[in-house]
Amino acid sequence: MLSENTPTSLQNLSERDKAVIWHPFTQMQTAPLPIPIVRANGSVLYDADGREYLDMVASWWVNLHGHAHPYIAQRVSEQLQVLEHVIFAGFTHQPAVELAERLLALLPANQSKVFYSDNGSTAVEVALKMAFQYWHNLGAPRYKVIALEGAYHGDTFGAMAVSGRSAFTAPFMPFLFDVEYLPTPIAGQEDAVLDQAKKLFTNEVAAFIVEPLVQGSGGMVMYEPGVLNDLFSLARQHGTLVIADEVMTGFGRTGKLFASDHLREKPDLMCLSKGLTGGTMALGVTTCTQVIYDAFLSGDKSKTLFHGHSFTANPIACTTALASMDLLLSAETQASIQRISESHAAFVQRLRTYSTVDNIRQLGTLLAFDLTAGGQTSYFNSIRDQAYTFLLDRGVLMRPLGNVLYMMPPYCTTDEQLQYAYAQVEKLLASL
Ligand SMILES: *Cc1c(COP(=O)(O)O)cnc(C)c1O
Repeated sequence: MLSENTPTSLQNLSERDKAVIWHPFTQMQTAPLPIPIVRANGSVLYDADGREYLDMVASWWVNLHGHAHPYIAQRVSEQLQVLEHVIFAGFTHQPAVELAERLLALLPANQSKVFYSDNGSTAVEVALKMAFQYWHNLGAPRYKVIALEGAYHGDTFGAMAVSGRSAFTAPFMPFLFDVEYLPTPIAGQEDAVLDQAKKLFTNEVAAFIVEPLVQGSGGMVMYEPGVLNDLFSLARQHGTLVIADEVMTGFGRTGKLFASDHLREKPDLMCLSKGLTGGTMALGVTTCTQVIYDAFLSGDKSKTLFHGHSFTANPIACTTALASMDLLLSAETQASIQRISESHAAFVQRLRTYSTVDNIRQLGTLLAFDLTAGGQTSYFNSIRDQAYTFLLDRGVLMRPLGNVLYMMPPYCTTDEQLQYAYAQVEKLLASL
């Protein structure tokens, strides 16, 4: 409720935050005070001083249809009156069943069961546990995993273990299980990576996990479907289970509903989160083939998948996902995805004229390029802070990954907003 204290308490929010809160991925000693956001609408965030920010990172890659979307709000408020939560062992409910049915209808045809969790990291944990226990249940245990260098699969221990090794994982090295890495098969490297893969894939490899076509946190590194098809078939020849971590690439980001839709070979397991609820609620999904599911069926209880979370398949979260799916599949949103993809493609031509830009890449609504002025390419590069602040000062929220600048706009972003963001990026490039 508003009171005469409200304006002051909002102004003080940053200071109050600093007194009690520890933020993610933030060096609390040197980070500037966080910006208090009081409301948001479409692609725009509004801070306590009334300043506007264009959310060109879709609030950490989750937002598809814009903030505070009225249709999602209405569906959530209806669901809240009916059923807010129920234990998901021994019980079920309409939103969970309907969401599973609708997801399976959209995913590659070999996906046949849906397991719910809370976020991208847990979706990956579940996929890994399914893969390891699949082999265990068959009585033919396999313990090896192959992943790609520079991969990011989340921050919990299993997800960290299959991610690339970096400063993020260094303190935990002794606790991370061994993983064999293949270099990312970027353009020009395909044959070399396939040669290496032929040696790495054996009948001892339990699972091969990848972010299909785009490695997100690793710097929006992109590679072609052809080589991924070849890697998937190589894995298959040895019975290795293929896990597609589509936590970032899912729900239209790559121009198709899923990155796997660009592929001929299909994964055995898929991980979804981020855009799943349109960015409104935390929800994760792991899907698998019938063959994997069947390996857990037994009169012997020890073959059960002993995994679950308190809020598994929360009805509110499932409802936001259903509402988001209605919006995503609408002709309007599909046209917007196309419109943003074309707009990015035109901007790519403009970017090519800047000497401070290198390695421009685009897939669907994802646009990324390297800033070359800094000379180095570390996540801790100072050009990162310079670019972040420059754009934020001009009302554009972009969070460079080291020297990699990228755009991942919500699909409701207007042409005018896109052009404004591009223009600020060009000012940055001219200033470097
Ligand atoms: C963000 C991300 C995750 C982790 O998801 P969280 O919800 O942040 O735990 C996993 N995999 C990929 C590809 C991601 O981009």
